[in-house]
Amino acid sequence: MGPDAERAVCADIEARRDEIVDLLSQLIAFDTTARPTADAPARDERRLQELLAGRLSAAGAVVDLWEPLPEDVAGTPMVPEPPAFHGRPQLAARFPGSGGGRSLMFNGHIDVVDAEPREDWTSDPHLAAVRDDLVFGRGACDMKGGIAAMVAAAEALARMGGQLAGDLTVCTVTDEESTGAGGLAAVRHGVRADAAIVTEPTGLDVWRACRGTLLPTVTVHGRPGHAGIPQRDWRDGGAVNAIERMLPLLDAMRRFQEDWRQRDGHRHDVLSPGEIVLCELNGGEWIVSYPARCTASWHLAYLPAHSEADGWAAGLRDEIEAAIASAAASDAWLVEHPPVVQWGSEVPAAEVPAGSPIVQLPLQAARELGRDARVGGLDNWHDGATFTRLGGTPSVCFGPGRIEAAHTVDEHVPVQDLVDVAKTLAVTALRFCADPVDRSR
Ligand SMILES: [Zn+2]
Repeated sequence: MGPDAERAVCADIEARRDEIVDLLSQLIAFDTTARPTADAPARDERRLQELLAGRLSAAGAVVDLWEPLPEDVAGTPMVPEPPAFHGRPQLAARFPGSGGGRSLMFNGHIDVVDAEPREDWTSDPHLAAVRDDLVFGRGACDMKGGIAAMVAAAEALARMGGQLAGDLTVCTVTDEESTGAGGLAAVRHGVRADAAIVTEPTGLDVWRACRGTLLPTVTVHGRPGHAGIPQRDWRDGGAVNAIERMLPLLDAMRRFQEDWRQRDGHRHDVLSPGEIVLCELNGGEWIVSYPARCTASWHLAYLPAHSEADGWAAGLRDEIEAAIASAAASDAWLVEHPPVVQWGSEVPAAEVPAGSPIVQLPLQAARELGRDARVGGLDNWHDGATFTRLGGTPSVCFGPGRIEAAHTVDEHVPVQDLVDVAKTLAVTALRFCADPVDRSR
């Protein structure tokens, strides 16, 4: 092992640039558009996972390809309505180490966001095209490019034979773009390692932290009545305007955010502060009627410091409910007809210490390739947070392409990034899996 093995694996990957692009092109050709609803039928997810399972098995991995049951992902705030996984198997392919070293996982999601509006694309989003040393196609950077790079790295390591002391697992999941149910299913299935790299498009930076999300919706009920007819007091049966009764609650959420952001724990070196954004406001039924109902929904991004030991932000939920209840307490109608707070899917915040080997090793390896790699964070959630907070696997993101190209028309990834990420992953595995497990972490 040592520098010779690292040079050899990098030379092997360099010689297979075209193969990496071919694999990415194959992955892009599978339609794995994220499901819009829990009961939407599967597309090409199984075929894609079987392609990877076949390749990794041929390279020597012990392959586990399974369809989770809805109950496998039940019981957390992340997936309030557990979906079925028919046609959407999860994959964990483990290359057994020779023994005594730390285990490492590469993880990626195979689902992609819808390619609409297709007519705006320069070329077919599901038919990869290479122009100017960039691969174009839906999922090129988010994140089939990352998957192609991790598979290339694992195969190159396998061709060298027996270089890793610890196990290396390649794990690909579904349902990241919709709910996170695929990553959660993998965690619940027991897929874990001493650390993981999720190959989201970081532009070869190492993201060591992400924010979590809460989705509160508040519903206020009024009482309908003719808008053109003077109304009696509501106590005498008069109409009540649900939209107007909502307004003090919107103010209360604004005041809550101002107070919340003044507190300790709102500074993070690689994440933005927590933020509460009013995203939807719906009220009223008819142009000549007092609105009977008004709902408001917020997107609330919170920092790792705001979550509890179990990974979820129950304390923050309680504070929001208290702020709404307190604002409602000064309105006699709302006291008798309290606003209802409902919670959508929650995803956890997570972070890995900056000095961890899983942060420092890929950073160092990427810099040795001449890349200007830095430590950063992602303000939005990703599957790595599930592995970190719920699976006991400290996870960072490191991958090809830029997040700014994700979900865009003409999504693309540089071929050089694919090659450099594959090399960095392979070198990181050689270094990380060589060392014995440090249980003191
Ligand atoms: Zn992604």
